Amino acid sequence: MKIRDRYAPSPTGLQHVGGLRTALFNYLFARSRGGVFILRLEDTDRSRFDESYVQNLYDTFDWLGFRWDEGPDSGGEAAPYVQSERTALYRKYADELVKSGRAYYCFCSAERLEKVRLEREAAHSSGTGASREAGYDRRCREIPADEAARRAAAGEAHTIRLKIPLDETTCFHDYLLGDIEWKNGDVNPDPVLLKSDGFPTYHLANVVDDHLMEISHVLRAQEWLASTPLHVIMYQSFGWAPPVFCHLPMVMGQDGKKLSKRHGATSIDEFRRQGYLPEALLNYVALLGASYEEGREIYTLRELEERFSLDKLNKAPAIFDYKKLEWYNGQYIRMKSDEELAARCLPWAVSAGLFGGIGAEPGAAQRCLFTAAMPLIRERLTFLHEAPEKISYLFREPELPAPEEFFPKKADQVRTVELLRLGRELTRPLSEAADDETAEAFIKAAAEQHAVKLGDLMMPLRVAITGSRVSPPLFGSLRLLGAERGLARVDRALELLARQENAG
Ligand code: GLU
Repeated sequence: MKIRDRYAPSPTGLQHVGGLRTALFNYLFARSRGGVFILRLEDTDRSRFDESYVQNLYDTFDWLGFRWDEGPDSGGEAAPYVQSERTALYRKYADELVKSGRAYYCFCSAERLEKVRLEREAAHSSGTGASREAGYDRRCREIPADEAARRAAAGEAHTIRLKIPLDETTCFHDYLLGDIEWKNGDVNPDPVLLKSDGFPTYHLANVVDDHLMEISHVLRAQEWLASTPLHVIMYQSFGWAPPVFCHLPMVMGQDGKKLSKRHGATSIDEFRRQGYLPEALLNYVALLGASYEEGREIYTLRELEERFSLDKLNKAPAIFDYKKLEWYNGQYIRMKSDEELAARCLPWAVSAGLFGGIGAEPGAAQRCLFTAAMPLIRERLTFLHEAPEKISYLFREPELPAPEEFFPKKADQVRTVELLRLGRELTRPLSEAADDETAEAFIKAAAEQHAVKLGDLMMPLRVAITGSRVSPPLFGSLRLLGAERGLARVDRALELLARQENAG
């Protein structure tokens, strides 16, 4: 069987974790089976449509490095399928169902429908009506076909409704959930397929497109499960074979409730702005509700493409663990080369003003320094946006903290000045040391020779050079700054400490 699947978002909101999971699973499934992955914009609900959400969808695909395989004009670079450009097609299929007696024209006004709905809802909730009695009362179902056709041809406003075969049961098989049975009386009574403005409803456009696009597998969120019996009835009404359905387990927060804003970021845009790497997000989301090799957590997209299979999906809801996602981000950051990591962190450094004013691009020397600084922070980053703040002392003179911040444990001002003077003598050789090992051996020997603790010697020097007691590695920082800048910083710190001493 030729595998063809699709991600079919409605652009009525920002792309979120649940959507990403659906898109990713469809993408991986198609790739794993040499199939075709389709992107289809289900934008027929014009009241909720917003162009910015379409742009957000494209931006998300770009950021994640996803590409769909086919569009109306075909080819990898083609635009995706867009339902609002295909409305004539849906009308044709709705008309076909009317002709075959499987659908009918409904002339009820919006006011009447609302009145009926309220009445029936009230009856239903007071327990006097069966669920099949909720919603529309099917009044127009009884209008003789020729009369209805005449009225429609005369221009009377109408919708087209599906004629649900009452008193029957609809069965289908879900790949994950098994056999499912619905009494047709429990299915939305005679739902609208074509609205009075000529636009299809989600159900019609979705089923017609899945058929025309020869979709073999529908992998979608479990919230669509309730629509599936209706879709199956539509396939039967058209005389088409339905695709394989596989409804994906829900994504929950740690409290077991559906993942939402309350739990943290949910839109892909937010993750991106927080400094997540797309690779990390993809890797984590690929394991939301699927398990691959026991104990293994890191997979490249390529590896996932090879390993994905529907049999690896779990039935149980997936729990979204923000801490775990942070861990993934850290892991992916560690795997980057200096150049790659610098390129990913650069936009944050530019907007933080690391290279001059806010938004200033780096000059050639600054760019080199930025790249060379990556080994100093790679192990210390959880998010890309943390980079500029962590290494700002390499680009501008750090603000020196209060004198006490220079003091090693149990040392006072006088002792600290002595230690920093000793540190000053070591600054040039440390800056010029070939590597960390050489620098370390050198400073250890000096500490021993002067009978001071290594930590006591390093603390004031670290604060003088970086402006902080907690900083990226000192030796690497000194090498990047060079002896002259290093010495100038130590002198500035000594001056500060001396001023304080005099004042005291
Ligand atoms: N347009 C629906 C959505 O927004 C698609 C559901 C489906 O995949 O069939 O999720």
